[in-house]
Amino acid sequence: MEFLTSHTWYDCKCHRQFCQFCDGGLGYCRICQGFEGSLPTDCPGVRMTQVQQDLVYEGKIDFRVGRGWVTPDGTGRSMGDVALIAEKMRYEAHT
Ligand SMILES: [Zn+2]
Ligand SMILES: [Zn+2]
Repeated sequence: MEFLTSHTWYDCKCHRQFCQFCDGGLGYCRICQGFEGSLPTDCPGVRMTQVQQDLVYEGKIDFRVGRGWVTPDGTGRSMGDVALIAEKMRYEAHT
């Protein structure tokens, strides 16, 4: 069920230039309160604690539907996954 796994994006209607949501395209989930770097791959469906947000931002944890809170493994879209993917690409570029 797609709607349970994807974030519910905050839809800013101000349409002001330089608005970080309208103009900058920043993602902010109204449900888990994840914001760009603190967004897990899947939405946990509840508001994250500050500690969880910080850990996602630091790339230490990620939320996957069916698995819960996990360690990023390079298959998702969280900060930790992105870092792993970037590291892998760097490694492959040098070999
Ligand atoms: Zn706006
Ligand atoms: Zn969310």
